Amino acid sequence: MEIELNIDPIAEWGLKTEHPVIIAGPCSVESEEQVLTTARLIAQNEMVSIFRAGIWKPRTRPNSFEGVGALGLKWLKKVKSETGLLLAVEVANAQHCETALKHGIDILWLGARTTVNPFSVQEIADTLKGSDIPVMVKNPVNPGLDLWIGALERLNQAGITKLIAIHRGFSSYSKTIYRNEPDWELPIELKRRIPELPVICDPSHIGGKRELIPALAQQAFDLEMNGIMVEVHYQPESALSDAQQQITPDELNYLIKKLILRNPEFKNGKNGNYLKDLRKKIDVVDKELIRLFSARKNYVEKIAEFKKEKGITILQLNRWDEIMKTRIDLGEKMNLKKEFVQAIYHHIHEDSIKLQTEILNV
Ligand code: PEP
Ligand code: MN
Repeated sequence: MEIELNIDPIAEWGLKTEHPVIIAGPCSVESEEQVLTTARLIAQNEMVSIFRAGIWKPRTRPNSFEGVGALGLKWLKKVKSETGLLLAVEVANAQHCETALKHGIDILWLGARTTVNPFSVQEIADTLKGSDIPVMVKNPVNPGLDLWIGALERLNQAGITKLIAIHRGFSSYSKTIYRNEPDWELPIELKRRIPELPVICDPSHIGGKRELIPALAQQAFDLEMNGIMVEVHYQPESALSDAQQQITPDELNYLIKKLILRNPEFKNGKNGNYLKDLRKKIDVVDKELIRLFSARKNYVEKIAEFKKEKGITILQLNRWDEIMKTRIDLGEKMNLKKEFVQAIYHHIHEDSIKLQTEILNV
């Protein structure tokens, strides 16, 4: 289903946010000295247009640092008047919104733990009705698009037209190198469904470790995202929250310098034709893939009819093990990663079991 939102393009926000949008700043406001020192250093890089800082911190476990609260907004005001950077803070309820608006905050964002809760999102949307403040919506903690889109819709229906989605990764039970799984297909699908919606990436919360951030940021730009939000602290090791994933202003400069901003499209010339030709070839291969999936399905149907007639069980573990093993071996010989072939056959097998169950039960 295509989703229609009424969204102003970033270029018309009047926020001096040149493309790409680079947002940087500490996970949390900790002290006047910490935000001002960090902001002064960040502001030296003219690619950065927005300063982020958490005032009220949603912490997973109690007794952690929960932010300095409204006091920090006064320090942020100084950041803005000294550096000219626009200010962005996280809000999670009506009172946060009112306080932030009163203190002249330029941009608000909803955190991952807020996007999951329609009551909180609605409360925020109701509070912001009538203001045209830009709002960024982080993806919900769980891997899925519905709550993310739902939050954007609630804000949009309250009249907020300056919206950005932030991809900050998704919680997963299986432990990988990431703090939050990137699941890139989800922000890509979001962009497909709402093409006019700017999407930016938060590599800090995806990575959870500073050394993972540059590659994640590059990947975001390679996937045509509109910008990044990076956690930056002048002394990351001593940060009161998310110490492992914050980088120094110098490291941010290096990251930005190394970013390769590829053209989304070669419009004409030799390169354009080359890309077109390759895409045509991919179209042919994809058509063939679909035809083969359909042919495989026909055989599965025949097997199911046979099993039904003879009273044989659907799942035959030996056969399944053999399929997995031989296909993975073959894939490896043809330069395909084990995990890739495994994931594809997982889906194929799941579908085959479903189909056979349907046939057996008619
Ligand atoms: C944050 O940006 O500091 C934060 C709390 O992020 P998230 O909502 O993505 O966990
Ligand atoms: Mn953080």
